[in-house]
Amino acid sequence: MREVLTAGRYYREKYGCNVYKTPISILGFTCPNIDGTVAKGGCTFCENESFSPNLTEKSTKKFYLNPKSAENPFLQSQLVQLESQFNQTKKVLTKKFGAKKFIVYFQSFSNTYAPLETLKALYERALSFDDVVGLSIGTRTDCITDEILDYLEELSKDKEIWVEYGIQSIYDETLDSINRGHSVENMFEWIKKTKDRGLKVCGHLIYGLPNETQEMMLDSVSASIELKIDSLKFHCMYITKNTMMANEFKAGKIDTISQEFYIDTLVKSFKMLPKDIMIQRVCAGIGGDSLLSPKWCSDKHTQMKSIKDALKKEGFDY
Ligand code: SF4
Repeated sequence: MREVLTAGRYYREKYGCNVYKTPISILGFTCPNIDGTVAKGGCTFCENESFSPNLTEKSTKKFYLNPKSAENPFLQSQLVQLESQFNQTKKVLTKKFGAKKFIVYFQSFSNTYAPLETLKALYERALSFDDVVGLSIGTRTDCITDEILDYLEELSKDKEIWVEYGIQSIYDETLDSINRGHSVENMFEWIKKTKDRGLKVCGHLIYGLPNETQEMMLDSVSASIELKIDSLKFHCMYITKNTMMANEFKAGKIDTISQEFYIDTLVKSFKMLPKDIMIQRVCAGIGGDSLLSPKWCSDKHTQMKSIKDALKKEGFDY
């Protein structure tokens, strides 16, 4: 049986205990695909409220940052928000799992899409919290600069710094069809640059995007391996209400894949992966009534069981 390098195994080996990611959502952050810089409306599958924790404060609702923002009048409230979200999640994880170490995960929107001074203030505050061993920064490859990479490289000398890029697919026609707003060329260029700085890269892949064959999905895995990406997150394309994809789905223009097809693609992917790629996620589940399709994505636990069983049959201990 081959042990898959899960996040749990990776962190236990490195820190001697489990390390928990604490998701953070900072008001005032957006992405160039939403604010009209490269496109409007965002990726067709993106329903931003589905990220957690939810954005609840209304005071800064109309204020959005971008790298050219001359000032950030909400920095102090963003720092307070960061600390309170972290403390809240830490408390829950400590009570539930006896968690001792944490990675602060800047999850919602594009977390390098702001002036560098704002990024520095937020990242350094996060790294100053007790028991935090590092950061994981979710962003797009068109929202990163050499200057930001220089800074992250410096931080990574003492801390565990991960940059999480949405890859989704390595086909331009797919990226166009989901209104991604950047090219595969841009993605390859900045992933390589990030890796060249010695930073750890996690790539997100979605299986079942419109008009993609299984071969195309597996090509995205091959490219990720060639790019020497350190970690991958997989999930199936699912469609929720309040997204552009919902309209395409209702009009019969697109469809979702079956669980069998998804798991088959996942198992084939695992067979291609080198042993040292850390796998952080193999599915996504969305409860509640906002899920349109596929319905099998509503329950993460049954998905996980089927995935684990299928992997086990092929000799993988996940
Ligand atoms: S890049 Fe992320 S935040 Fe921006 S539109 Fe796409 S999914 Fe949404």
